[in-house]
Amino acid sequence: MIAVIIGPPGAGKSSQSELLKDREHVVWVYVGQLLRQQNNPDISRVMSRGDLVDDNLVNGLIAQELAKIDPAKVVVLDGFPRHTPQAAWLIDFAASSAHSLRVIIHLKISAEESLKRLRGRARADDTKESINQRLTDYQANIHPLIDYFSDHGIEVAQIDGERSVERVFADIDKLINHVHQS
Ligand code: AMP
Repeated sequence: MIAVIIGPPGAGKSSQSELLKDREHVVWVYVGQLLRQQNNPDISRVMSRGDLVDDNLVNGLIAQELAKIDPAKVVVLDGFPRHTPQAAWLIDFAASSAHSLRVIIHLKISAEESLKRLRGRARADDTKESINQRLTDYQANIHPLIDYFSDHGIEVAQIDGERSVERVFADIDKLINHVHQS
């Protein structure tokens, strides 16, 4: 099954995924990292601006990754989809693959908290302009994205990401186990 984890920059998506991937049944697919690993200057340029990379390219990379993973595992898809066209692709892809799309985890923090956390991080693409761009994209896309999943009968769980890493993890871990076993 696929469990999507979405949220604003700095919400803790990757920190939580790092913890989840220690579970035997979990495989972490981190889209930002997949893109960085392409070592493609065109992609790096888009990423350093904080813009979204071309949908066809991203979708293709995800399809390739998922094809390598045992469908009995829980795929934690980190940072995808970012907007409704990607969500539409994912729903179609999952319908025709052995990986079923079961749950969307929306890890929520405020814009103020997002800015605060990113200022304290040292990632190459965390410039002021790129952070603002990613936050603007997130704010424009998140509600249509959530509505789209809900309209397609896919559960969207809202998780408060402003608590301690351990408490957030306890909630996400419990939720994924519950969905996986049902
Ligand atoms: P992240 O590591 O999730 O913060 O993503 C870093 C950067 O990778 C983003 O600012 C985008 O440029 C790119 N990226 C990550 N996920 C996606 C996606 N689903 N679609 C397009 N671009 C993405």
